[in-house]
Amino acid sequence: MALIVQKYGGSSVGTVERIQAVAQRVQATVAIGHSVVVVVSAMGKTTDGLVKLAADITDQPSRREMDMLLSTGEQVSIALLTMALQALGQEAISLTGAQVGIVTEAEHTRARILEIKTERLQRHLKEGKVIVVAGFQGISETSDLEITTLGRGGSDTSAVALAAALQAETCEIYTDVPGILTTDPRLVPEAQLMDEITSDEMLELASLGAKVLHPRAVEIARNYGVTLVVRSSWTDQPGTRVISPRPQPRPLEGLELAQPVDAVEFDTDQAKVALLRIPDRPGIAARLFGELATQALNVDLIIQSIHEGNTNDIAFTLVKANLTRAEAVAAAIAPALRNNLADTTQAEVMVDQRMAKISIAGAGMIGRPGVAAKMFSSLAAAGINIQLISTSEVKVSCTIDVDDCDRAIRVLCDAFEVTSSPRPQGHTGANAAAPVVRGAALDTQQAQIAIRHVPDRPGMAARIFQLLATHGVSVDMIIQSQRCRLVRGQATRDIAFTVAQADAPTAKAVVEAAAAELNLGDVAVDDAIAKVSVVGTGMIDAPGVAARMFKALSEQGINLKMIATSEIKISCVVAEDEGITALRAVHNAFGLAGLTRTVVHV
Ligand code: ASP
Ligand code: MG
Repeated sequence: MALIVQKYGGSSVGTVERIQAVAQRVQATVAIGHSVVVVVSAMGKTTDGLVKLAADITDQPSRREMDMLLSTGEQVSIALLTMALQALGQEAISLTGAQVGIVTEAEHTRARILEIKTERLQRHLKEGKVIVVAGFQGISETSDLEITTLGRGGSDTSAVALAAALQAETCEIYTDVPGILTTDPRLVPEAQLMDEITSDEMLELASLGAKVLHPRAVEIARNYGVTLVVRSSWTDQPGTRVISPRPQPRPLEGLELAQPVDAVEFDTDQAKVALLRIPDRPGIAARLFGELATQALNVDLIIQSIHEGNTNDIAFTLVKANLTRAEAVAAAIAPALRNNLADTTQAEVMVDQRMAKISIAGAGMIGRPGVAAKMFSSLAAAGINIQLISTSEVKVSCTIDVDDCDRAIRVLCDAFEVTSSPRPQGHTGANAAAPVVRGAALDTQQAQIAIRHVPDRPGMAARIFQLLATHGVSVDMIIQSQRCRLVRGQATRDIAFTVAQADAPTAKAVVEAAAAELNLGDVAVDDAIAKVSVVGTGMIDAPGVAARMFKALSEQGINLKMIATSEIKISCVVAEDEGITALRAVHNAFGLAGLTRTVVHV
């Protein structure tokens, strides 16, 4: 007999009939001998309806009263589901977040869970009752016992937190889709259901997966080793398992870490190769990384920033032992890289063995402004210059001088109150046969901002991203390129980043206002971009993944505006109107459309 937490989303409890169907499913789980804690969302679109009511009264409802209002939705569904269970003869009791003791910070409308009291839950479970808990809500730790909510979509988070606190065997998330798909089926109808995915991959796919699973829920599952299953409420299909490595035991207090970063990672065994002034046209990256792949040279970071004139720079890192061969590959193709025969610009190869890679990792940085800025300012305060920057959803990686590495580790561990570890070797919870690419995502809601000629000295990235954070702008992908050029006797580099389109005007204004003081060059905004990404744990050890992605894109004649990577993710920025073609091409290139499996309709 096991303890299982089941969560049913709004559409699964949208009508009386559906509530009765859920009751039957719960009862069936009890009948095979399990104890069940059920977490439910508000019925159907109830929460949206409540938000609208508030908006009809005022543009600026107080956050406290929004919590008071929105928390009522779940109170309706727990009572009705409990009645439905009782009507089937199943003993059951409904509890609000406060009655359970889901203790949160006193941050209305976006509270994080600090602790879940389990005494009362244990008592009712012993009595043989099914417990039906209101998702999305909690009670503040302050003496006033304020009702709080966790933010929209937060009942996934409630469910996984309960599963962690109760050490449940699994947490099943029932929803109206069959599970997690390899990409957005509205864009790529061939998208396939995944049998499993690791929590790290899921977090890197946050922009794809967030509609199915709240990233904070995935974060808790990863931190506490909760096995998650996402499956359909309407069928008996097994759905998708989200697997996490068995983590270090950690205390349940402060459950949803207030810390956005949970590790500082470093690697001093890498070297960098940069190919400078290569033509900005489709196919170059494909060719370079194709050659590297043919020689089985596995690359780690790949960074390409915005073009300058009609040329670009691409830099990559790989283990030192492979440097000589990688340099030879780059040197061999460099002379052939010209726009035309009359072109006198020479591509040039540069290598650097004296580098270290240092990264911060953590799910808590998603959508939270200022985390990257804090990394950059901590490094700046220690006088450490940042060479390349590449970011993904849950990681910021910088290359620095190897002599600075020890100091960098120390200041970052201090700043984020975490311990350091070398770059994790191999897999993080997946089996050895982990697919190199698990899924692909497209984000068309972003804008790209490029800042030219940022002085190449400690503190510049820190100042820029701190300013943006102060203005509430959350930055997604950040790229600092290899190109170093002298402007008025000062070495400079370009920095490019992406933000939500809605934030682009603010971001531009903020950077421009500081341009004179910080000695920055032009600031250019490009709204018409799309970001296409592939994610997979298996790519850590598999040469040629980037090459395959770049080749698929170049075959469609798609030019890459920017490239950024983490160990398990490769993202390319392309023109917006090429986004869907790019996604389809990449999805196909990695066989995600699964030739033999059946197509899933959602
Ligand atoms: N009812 C809340 C919402 O719609 C919480 C949830 O459904 O997860 O955002
Ligand atoms: Mg939901």
